[in-house]
Amino acid sequence: MLLSDPVTSIKGVGEKKAQLLNHLGIFTVGGLIEHFPREYDDRSEVRKISDFVEDEENTFFAWVDAVPENVHIGKMAITKVKLKDDTGSINAVWYNQPYIKNAVKKDEEYIFTGEYRKRNGRREIISPEFERADGREVLGGGRIVPVYHLTSGISQKVLRSLIKMTLTEVKAQLPDFMPLSIRKKYCLCERNFAVSNIHFPENSESFFMARRRLVFEELFVLQLALFEIKGLSERSGGPVFKNNNILARTQKALGFDFTAAQKKVVKEIINDTSSKNLMNRLIQGDVGSGKTAVAMAAALMAVESGFQAALMAPTEVLASQHYESFKQFFENFGIEVYLLKGSLKKREKDMVKADIADGKVKMVIGTHAIIQKDVEFDNLGLVITDEQHRFGVNQRNILSQKAENAHVIVMTATPIPRTLALILYGDLDISVIDELPPGRQHIQTYAVNSSYHSRAYAFVRKEVEKGRQAYMVCPMIEESDTIEAKAVDTMIKEVSQTEFEGLNVSVLHGKMKPDEKESVMRDFAEGRIQILISTTVIEVGINVPNATIMLIENAERFGLSQLHQLRGRVGRGKHQSYCILVTDSKSEQTRERMKVMKKTNDGFEISETDLKLRGPGEFFGTRQHGVPQLKIANLYKDSEILKEAQEAAKKLNKDNVWRENIDYEPLFRRVRELFLQGGRIGI
Ligand code: ADP
Ligand code: MG
Repeated sequence: MLLSDPVTSIKGVGEKKAQLLNHLGIFTVGGLIEHFPREYDDRSEVRKISDFVEDEENTFFAWVDAVPENVHIGKMAITKVKLKDDTGSINAVWYNQPYIKNAVKKDEEYIFTGEYRKRNGRREIISPEFERADGREVLGGGRIVPVYHLTSGISQKVLRSLIKMTLTEVKAQLPDFMPLSIRKKYCLCERNFAVSNIHFPENSESFFMARRRLVFEELFVLQLALFEIKGLSERSGGPVFKNNNILARTQKALGFDFTAAQKKVVKEIINDTSSKNLMNRLIQGDVGSGKTAVAMAAALMAVESGFQAALMAPTEVLASQHYESFKQFFENFGIEVYLLKGSLKKREKDMVKADIADGKVKMVIGTHAIIQKDVEFDNLGLVITDEQHRFGVNQRNILSQKAENAHVIVMTATPIPRTLALILYGDLDISVIDELPPGRQHIQTYAVNSSYHSRAYAFVRKEVEKGRQAYMVCPMIEESDTIEAKAVDTMIKEVSQTEFEGLNVSVLHGKMKPDEKESVMRDFAEGRIQILISTTVIEVGINVPNATIMLIENAERFGLSQLHQLRGRVGRGKHQSYCILVTDSKSEQTRERMKVMKKTNDGFEISETDLKLRGPGEFFGTRQHGVPQLKIANLYKDSEILKEAQEAAKKLNKDNVWRENIDYEPLFRRVRELFLQGGRIGI
């Protein structure tokens, strides 16, 4: 049996069982033994019937003492079996599993695990798991027992014995692709040992050794794969930009000096684009740290060097806003800026597209429509993507294909810990803007419960009467029967006739038509709307310096990073700004989140806490963000191992030896197999 053989080559696996295994993502023998347990059940203590602990799971060997029988009460089938050992006897009962009757046989010995209950004088073991004890190695008790992800039609018991059997057969041929020097340096056990012990740990020490090895291996291989991907996207022959005193001229046109952090990033971009290598750079920085300003410098350089530049935003609203600021900026240089958006009429769109194709358009801004197939560029030199945390590696991949010979900048306002950034954006070089422009005010943040509503609204009114504007964010558009949370629709009805009577209040949400949304946004930006009641569509990038209040209803429904993003919509002008978080939730997590929001304005600190509170899965919304599906490693909990694995991978990747030397062939093959199927990125 080879690891690459289909699961049907395993004894006892026919077409039907194979299909079930396929459901679990298991297709090959190797896939089966890498279906690692989701958790473990410590059943190493085996008790005698006389020593049972009440209301707890008990594991015990016993003989079936009577022929099992089913009784029916109403619709319910109850299976009762009398069990005994040398210390006493006990009844086991199962509910609605009538087939159990024929699965256990009188006068046979089994090992059982189930909860022991004493009720109304009856002593019972409830729905125990059981396994024949006929001299073969017992898997379901007397040891630490693996618990797997299942699919209906396959049980823990079946999976356990299938994996055990397969392991026994292939154990000897599990290749250890980790270089010995790395295994020694980082104290990693052999792969054979690790894989056996991750399924059936001999004891807790061997389990920890096994897990460490497999987590390390997974992250190490992933990191190498990311280096490979980066290598693939590191093509030479890119456009060379001229740097015509770009920093000084950009600053002059914008009317402010760049921060030291911005200057550093501009220099990095100048460096990248003045050589023949293609730039693939991520700019990470908090909301308002001035990423867009840096992108403007890059775009100006591209256009002045005779290339086209494109900026993509995740929403139309944001694209329009970028359009406005780019237009203003580029006017200083006599360069026209175009906006390509979904809501344009077909004829208009066709015209812009034609102008893009013949190179008349130098600077174009839009949503992802820009990278659609039918938009052809004449000589695209730079592609900038804003708020990249919404796209995954795959989308970036499409982008770099479209931008075949163009430099790429992606901007993200979700600062993340550096080790994680290396995984998420391992295909990019990373720049960090870790400093805000001077004079940025501290946004006063309050967390209140809904009994403060009228006071909060009165405060909003007072600010608005002073000439300021306010955002009020609700989690939902319409009221729902199942979710109790404020909705935009209800809110506007409630407040426009009462607290905010006589003020200009409008709504904004994702179900509105693009041109409606746009005109609301424009009215708000130009001050005609005083209070904007909205869903999170305003989350990204909107810049209205006169807005000073961000009031968030049901703040418990938003993640920390999202709250931070929302708060970043205010405090953009010279007036003192406020963030009011309204929540009635008393959960520990909510309290923790509100505390962090009150305490800090630092995006890195906030994201670190967010990650801690929610775990990486939710934090990144997994797939959506292109986080690779990991089998065993936990990007947060295993951050120490992650660091070690990255260090090792980096060191190995320094020269080309591992790609060329035959000793590293198994490792190289593993990296390719897992992540680079057929030349495509498999993340
Ligand atoms: P980001 O894209 O990171 O959210 P922006 O580039 O949109 O940030 O900048 C936010 C606001 O701060 C804009 O109004 C911008 O003009 C202004 N700004 C950017 N950099 C500076 C700076 N160095 N000094 C003063 N204002 C700045
Ligand atoms: Mg921005």
